[in-house]
Amino acid sequence: MRQLKTFYVKTYGCQMNELDSEIMVGLLERRGLARCQDETDADLLLFNTCSIRDLAERKVMGKLGLLGRTSKREAIIGVTGCMANAKKESLFQKLPHIDFVLGTNNIHDLNHVLDEVLATGKQTVKTDDHFAFELDYLNAKREDKVKAYVSIIRGCDKFCTYCVVPYTRGPEVSRTPESILEECRHLVQQGYKEITLLGQNVNSYGKDQPSWNCLFHDLLYQIDKIPGIERVRFMTSHPVDITRELMEAIRDLKSLCEFVHFPLQAGSNRVLRKMHRIYTVEAYLEKVQMLRELVPNVALGTDIIVGFPTETEEEFQETYQQLKEIEYSVAFLFAYSPRKGTPAMRWRDDIPEEVKQQRLQRLMLLQDEIYAKQRGSLLGQTVEVLVEKRSFKDNRFLKGRTRCWKNVLFEGEDDLIGTLQQVEIHSFSHQTLLGKQSAKTCAA
Ligand code: SF4
Repeated sequence: MRQLKTFYVKTYGCQMNELDSEIMVGLLERRGLARCQDETDADLLLFNTCSIRDLAERKVMGKLGLLGRTSKREAIIGVTGCMANAKKESLFQKLPHIDFVLGTNNIHDLNHVLDEVLATGKQTVKTDDHFAFELDYLNAKREDKVKAYVSIIRGCDKFCTYCVVPYTRGPEVSRTPESILEECRHLVQQGYKEITLLGQNVNSYGKDQPSWNCLFHDLLYQIDKIPGIERVRFMTSHPVDITRELMEAIRDLKSLCEFVHFPLQAGSNRVLRKMHRIYTVEAYLEKVQMLRELVPNVALGTDIIVGFPTETEEEFQETYQQLKEIEYSVAFLFAYSPRKGTPAMRWRDDIPEEVKQQRLQRLMLLQDEIYAKQRGSLLGQTVEVLVEKRSFKDNRFLKGRTRCWKNVLFEGEDDLIGTLQQVEIHSFSHQTLLGKQSAKTCAA
């Protein structure tokens, strides 16, 4: 059987994919393969793909198509991630030069699939609909030395009409609290300062396993007890599952950062119904108010889609108004694009592209004003920054984030990386705060 020596991995999409890639890199290194940064040197090319937006999918298909036309080499090519689940063996028709397709629920099987491909020379596909295996989290090869992702739940049961995730990642499957706690302890022992708990709908944690008697907020209380744990974050959440108990945990737990991704998606009840978001604007606003009362310094993030089928100008205005009033500190704004396999595909994509782009621009301008106002209000304040690395753009500066997920740059030595520092903010540039190290205590 042919021996592979080197591999190259390219990751597209979300944090869950980044973590899955880290797990696959760990599996390949334990097999004895060495990672290389240049795809032309590799015996194995792995593309961990994303299906969430049309653009992401076209990018991957373009890249894989190019490999087929230009590669004269003998490299094994594998496609993993959401596109693998969405397209399965049909990928072989469009891309006959790829060797295997491995779904998001099968990454534990990477080395077996490789053995099969090497032994038989046949194209192989494994794409289970349901996640059922514990992964080798402890041997994940993490790129970052300060922050780490920890997967706590995979899949999603919400079925928003525009989203492929329930079809590509399957139903919600929570990971046992024991396994999560073991990984968190291991990370803290290795010196990690910040843990981000990951899931497509992280705050649904434990609902699929009532006998565990451990919902998301219960898990957070247990993680907070780990000696030495500095910061805990989570993403992403569904507003329906943001409970009072979770809000109280954010208020009470020292390690839990005061930042909640609270995706509104649209400001019109009719559009929310059509999206199957299962909350109304009023119910959403009630929760935002409750959270802000319990945790006054909390920062909120959101996702918004404009140009959803049949969205009128008046309905867009409702979204605009909510964005203006809620004043999120982070907003991911998108123009709707139909995704194959979703219920929304059945509806005509009837909002012209130029109208979608115009609406998107209007929201972006508004959000830029909000960012400037929020950053201006921090001038002269001292914030706690977890120092992550040296800035790529200007290596005089160290780069880090506040507990509320704001980017901060300040001058300092490398030995500050991985430490918590107090930084006095003196200016800002677009979304980045600029400051200097301070001995004062923190305001935010
Ligand atoms: S909750 Fe999120 S992941 Fe689940 S279907 Fe809706 S948008 Fe997709």
